[in-house]
Amino acid sequence: MNKPVDVPVTVPLWIGGRQVASTSGRFAEVTNPALGAVTKRVPFCNAADIDAAVKAAQAAFPAWRDAPALRRARVMQRFLQLLQDNQKALARIVTEEHGKTLPDAMGSVQRGIEVVEFACGIPHLLKGEHSENVGTGVDSHTVRQPVGVCAGITPFNFPVMVPLWMFPVAIACGNAFILKPSEKVPSASLRMAELFKEAGLPDGVLNVVHGDKEAVDAILNHPGIGAVSFVGSTPIAKYIYETGAKSGKRVQALGGAKNHAVVLPDADLEFAADALIGAAYGSAGERCMAISAVVAVGAAADPLVGLLKKKADAIQVGPGDRDGVDMGPLVTRAHRDKVKGYVDKGVSDGAKLVRDGRAEKVAGGEGGFYLGASLFDRVTPQMTIYRDEIFGPVLVVLRVDSLEEAIALVNANPYANGTAIFTESGGAARRFENEIQVGMVGINVPIPVPVAFYSFGGWKGSLFGDLHVHGVEGVKFYTRTKVVTTRWPHQDTPAPGLNMPTLG
Ligand code: NAD
Repeated sequence: MNKPVDVPVTVPLWIGGRQVASTSGRFAEVTNPALGAVTKRVPFCNAADIDAAVKAAQAAFPAWRDAPALRRARVMQRFLQLLQDNQKALARIVTEEHGKTLPDAMGSVQRGIEVVEFACGIPHLLKGEHSENVGTGVDSHTVRQPVGVCAGITPFNFPVMVPLWMFPVAIACGNAFILKPSEKVPSASLRMAELFKEAGLPDGVLNVVHGDKEAVDAILNHPGIGAVSFVGSTPIAKYIYETGAKSGKRVQALGGAKNHAVVLPDADLEFAADALIGAAYGSAGERCMAISAVVAVGAAADPLVGLLKKKADAIQVGPGDRDGVDMGPLVTRAHRDKVKGYVDKGVSDGAKLVRDGRAEKVAGGEGGFYLGASLFDRVTPQMTIYRDEIFGPVLVVLRVDSLEEAIALVNANPYANGTAIFTESGGAARRFENEIQVGMVGINVPIPVPVAFYSFGGWKGSLFGDLHVHGVEGVKFYTRTKVVTTRWPHQDTPAPGLNMPTLG
């Protein structure tokens, strides 16, 4: 029987290598932000759904753990090929549910695919250390073993890339994985799980569940899950870290950001302004590495603000799948209205609104969640538009007199994800790199997102936990180190007796 047209498609869960339905009966709507229309509904999982996913992962784990790393790497290689073949289709899903432009979505999928490329080298990455003769006739070596069942909870703004920061590395290490993507953008994770199965991943090694706090709490409290990776806003990251750690799990929880770009008067201002426009308004500002605050030093300020205004005026706003569009809509109506409220607040707090994005009109886009690019000058550190992470197309400019003052301003901010400096001076750049208290730093690079074979993560309120994601730190997070000390008794060395063994 045909479905009535007003019932949207329901996004399934993926448990044990197949699509299944949730038992909860609770749902959220998924929208196409360019149309402002509901396109699907997504179930909110309950504890029973999470338990089913954990059981499937636990059943799959022993055989996957015992598969030689080279065999696991070959599955990764086939997955890599399938992701490359399906890059455009995945990017289309991203644009449809998130709103960002198709070229931007393609780029983000590419950056995720590069993590799978990295994970293909897992046999090398899992190699341990070995020392001969740590004591007479005694050797030591280390092995890295998978944690078991790991979980990942991801945000709305990178529906493919952020999940790919996590599960390929965890799975290559020999773990089973449960992914809970953002309920706003659930479909890409499903598609990736199908592709991974097609690549030869055994059923149950990767599972996808959906939901809100109820599902997340069930993950955090489930005794069968050993490690949790989280990426999202700072208050939730802190909650995930504290709750997960309390129940004995290892946790890495990446939070929100307020990323500063410091522009010195000696910088190539045309180059800097181009870079800042892309970094502030790309993906409608919904990037954790977006530059949202410019710190203009001395004489850089007046010409820089003029250039930023001119370039912001040229940004084309529209549906992400339309040629020539630079900036798509925001993810939901509620988020668009919240960002718009910040522009109102900036005005009432006395900042100078150089460009007002609130009036932006998109031909044929009346229902979409659009907002134009806004630019504020003469913002102070006390203002809400500086203190809060806005996560939209709003760039604020603060003016200071010296590099020293700029560094102090950045270091006083509670967030510390990314930052950048624009200058022609090697000495100034070196000082900035050395003194800045931020996890990822760009020198004339506005969005210094590390490549897959480095690790990604901030400091302070932008990361709770010790280890960053992907790269070598990702491998460390998803494995436990075991140190083995070996002595063979047929050799001529006496046993240690009851005293503390000193081995020498
Ligand atoms: P969010 O914190 O609202 O949601 C992230 C995840 O947590 C989602 O899966 C969501 O379902 C879940 N969640 C939401 N509320 C919860 C609750 N009360 N209890 C338990 N789980 C809950 O973040 P978002 O709005 O999806 O994403 C935007 C945020 O993510 C921004 O703050 C951005 O800076 C941050 N982000 C950070 C990074 C990074 O690498 N540091 C990367 C991307 C996004």
